[in-house]
Amino acid sequence: MKILKFGGTSVGSAERIKGLLEIVNPSERQIVVLSAVAGTTNALVEIGQAFSAGKKEVADDLIKQHKNKYEHLIKDLFTSEQGLERGKSLIDYHFNYISSLGNDLFTNVEEKIILAQGELLSTTLFHFHLDEIGVPSVLLPALDFMKIDEDNEPLVEAIGEKLENLLSIYPNNKLFITQGYICRNSFGEIDNLRRGGSDYTASLVGAAIHADEVQIWTDIDGMHNNDPRVVKNTSPIANLSFDEAAELAYFGAKILHPQSVFPAQKYNVPVRLLNTMDPQAAGTLISENGGTKGQIRAIAAKDDITAIHIHSSRMLLAYGFLRKIFEIFERYKTPIDMITTSEVAVSLTIDDTKYLGDIIKEVEDFGKVSVDYNQTIVCVVGDFSANTHGYAAKVLDAVKHLPLRMISYGGSDYNVSILLDTEHKTEALRSLHNRLF
Ligand code: ADP
Ligand code: ASP
Ligand code: MG
Repeated sequence: MKILKFGGTSVGSAERIKGLLEIVNPSERQIVVLSAVAGTTNALVEIGQAFSAGKKEVADDLIKQHKNKYEHLIKDLFTSEQGLERGKSLIDYHFNYISSLGNDLFTNVEEKIILAQGELLSTTLFHFHLDEIGVPSVLLPALDFMKIDEDNEPLVEAIGEKLENLLSIYPNNKLFITQGYICRNSFGEIDNLRRGGSDYTASLVGAAIHADEVQIWTDIDGMHNNDPRVVKNTSPIANLSFDEAAELAYFGAKILHPQSVFPAQKYNVPVRLLNTMDPQAAGTLISENGGTKGQIRAIAAKDDITAIHIHSSRMLLAYGFLRKIFEIFERYKTPIDMITTSEVAVSLTIDDTKYLGDIIKEVEDFGKVSVDYNQTIVCVVGDFSANTHGYAAKVLDAVKHLPLRMISYGGSDYNVSILLDTEHKTEALRSLHNRLF
């Protein structure tokens, strides 16, 4: 069984939704995971924010504007009177529901329910379209099987069990459709896997049912060797190892959700990145043996990083110091991305600043603390093992004209990361590209 995930642009218009059948083969047993139509989740975020701020009129205005887009979409998608009626009832239902959530107490529970409507809409529209043209399909509600625990960690085994049960109800069906991004949390509430989370859904579903392959269909021909939004002349990489891909996704390659490689890696399910606009292009295959020795593979960058520097003479020759520092971050469920130490200081970076104030207050018990905002981690992925000489020097040479805040080398064999002010990111990516490729 294969899992095929299509992102927002791949379902971004009636034409694209119809075009999915050029890629999806309805006679092969598979699960199709869909994102919301491009722009929808952003709009839902704005609507939620307006309700939260008590600006009901602003929210209702946004709802009206967005519903209007869907009214155009269904006119182009459905050809029969009946099909159009069905589409119309569907969008009426979802947009009325969104609007009704702003009538009473509005908490983050309602906000997350609103965020879920995009994927519920896109999947049902595709299902209705297939029905209209006589292609059988089964809509599997992600909210019936995608579960996360109290730490927002997905429950892969439970997902697999529930999903297998659901699939077994339809032994003769081939084409299954489900929502990316959305799930239920430990309270049973509607929740999500964070922005870009449909990739994560696809990988989790693939891992949970031990699929043969996960395909991520998007608007570019695979993982490029640098951020194509910033650097010209980037090129696709044919093969990557899970470790390399995980590193790139985690450190900012937007084509993949940061956590989406781990489930596939754990259950050894190959992941292909493919281009909906150019289905024949080779794309990228991510697999256990996809790494290449002796090469620098790619560069990625992660913005919105905050660096915390702790200077303490108590660290000198002391043991247990780092543990005490790390425990503070653990208590506030704040992951640390990068870390460097000297004899009397430790610097680390985080991207979730929700509890920054509390964390700093506690860390100040250990020494003098300073914080740098608007930082970017630039991550170079490749073979940096001890027996490949000179690669780290090459990386540093490419950015020698820029002020570097932190450097991390040796944590793994396949990554060198540097921290710098975000204002220097573009120059860093371009200079590294010119020097390394
Ligand atoms: P989707 O909506 O299909 O999930 P995304 O916008 O999330 O698509 O991801 C695809 C985009 O990721 C590309 O259009 C590209 O601009 C961006 N991107 C950033 N870094 C990379 C990279 N290293 N390789 C390929 N694409 C990248
Ligand atoms: N629709 C969600 C988002 O825009 C999930 C996704 O596209 O992967 O973040
Ligand atoms: Mg995406």
